[in-house]
Amino acid sequence: LSDRLSGIFDKLTGRGALSENDVNEAMREIRRALIEADVALPVVRSFTDKVRNRAVGAEVVKSVTPGQMVVKIVHDQLIEMLGSDTRTLDLNAPAPVPIMMVGLQGSGKTTTTAKIARRLTQREKRKVLMASLDTRRPAAQEQLKVLGEQNGIDTLPIVEGQGPVEIAKRAMSAARLGGYDVVLLDTAGRIHIDEPLMIEMAEVKAAAQPHEILLVADSLTGQDAVNLAKNFDERVGITGIALTRMDGDGRGGAALSMQAVTGKPVKLIGTGEKSDALEDFHPKRIADRILGMGDIVSLVEKAAEAIDAEKAAKMAKRMQKGHFDLEDLSEQLRQMEKLGGMSGMMGMMPGVGKMKKQIDAAGLDDKVFRRQIAIIQSMTPDERRKPDLLKASRKKRIAAGSGVQVAEVNKLLKMHRQMADMMKKMGKGKGLLGKLMGGM
Ligand code: GDP
Ligand code: MG
Repeated sequence: LSDRLSGIFDKLTGRGALSENDVNEAMREIRRALIEADVALPVVRSFTDKVRNRAVGAEVVKSVTPGQMVVKIVHDQLIEMLGSDTRTLDLNAPAPVPIMMVGLQGSGKTTTTAKIARRLTQREKRKVLMASLDTRRPAAQEQLKVLGEQNGIDTLPIVEGQGPVEIAKRAMSAARLGGYDVVLLDTAGRIHIDEPLMIEMAEVKAAAQPHEILLVADSLTGQDAVNLAKNFDERVGITGIALTRMDGDGRGGAALSMQAVTGKPVKLIGTGEKSDALEDFHPKRIADRILGMGDIVSLVEKAAEAIDAEKAAKMAKRMQKGHFDLEDLSEQLRQMEKLGGMSGMMGMMPGVGKMKKQIDAAGLDDKVFRRQIAIIQSMTPDERRKPDLLKASRKKRIAAGSGVQVAEVNKLLKMHRQMADMMKKMGKGKGLLGKLMGGM
């Protein structure tokens, strides 16, 4: 537990402006996080340059550490680069509005086509026609038809022997005749980008004059994402990106890479195989995910609000001198309760799935804080300042006074001892972010 808490105490020590050293050290960690998230290297470079300029000399908000401050600046810059508002499909054109889906084979074009059609039909009450232009893969047209039937969306009747351009033209005239609002054109992909694919896409585009051309890309695309997006954008001219398989392990670095090289926004996120697994693109969520730091940023923000700066400063001074009595512990526990208790904090931290189970198993829920505060309240001021006074008889009195077993009083005292030891060791400082992350 004390390991977990140290992050909170760390917060109390940060003051002043960020030095070049602070920033450089943090930037190494940030670079690593971005590369792990599969952000393309040139994008990583330009990104870290921007952040460095912005961070050096920035004021550190009271009650957060310099490391946390850098994370916040990085996060803000990420959001800025990802685009700060959610973007939706542009249907602002005379009906039927053609939308063309492009991308590699298996990227999720057909699935995403059905997802978009379902959303436009159900949420926006549009009349949507879907057409598969995939004449390469056996049963590809059938796949879209089945998805249409499952979701109550019309598909263009399949006519054997027609090529993609013919189907596109037929789809447009069928949509005009049938009074459709939107036509979704699901094209064929290839395993790799090649010339025939690009030619085919250009021909379909010329025939259908799509209002939106969405590049569908797997979020696990990694370093190839830049090439992929650049090629499709240069040869076909995309208007937006749909990122699929965000329900998987992908950290979403591709979103940043592809936007950075094309300047085209990620508009939609695929989060599952089902037809309703489609979400708007939220830059903040992706930024959190790319950084792989859970929601440390909002933890920092919340902490900055919750922790009274003056109290914090006073306590920090005491702690630097190695003072940490039960009164201080009580104050800490109160602050933690304010932060949403253990479960609230856990929820904001990275990689907590396993931890949370252990914590739950150990019975360390929010009630524990309150019980611990109650135990400390049952002590005399003297006892709080000098825990050594607490011998068996006093412990019994305190246990009775706060309605717990003596064992629980002992547990609290042990925790306090461990934390007080830790306080003394702190301040010597490991790495900036290492300290921060280690504490988290
Ligand atoms: P296409 O070749 O580009 O048309 O790709 P498909 O739409 O046929 O999708 C290929 C596979 O990826 C299918 O098994 C889909 O169910 C799956 N898929 C597509 N989008 C997602 C997604 O967002 N999450 C998950 N988990 N699977 C997806
Ligand atoms: Mg397909």
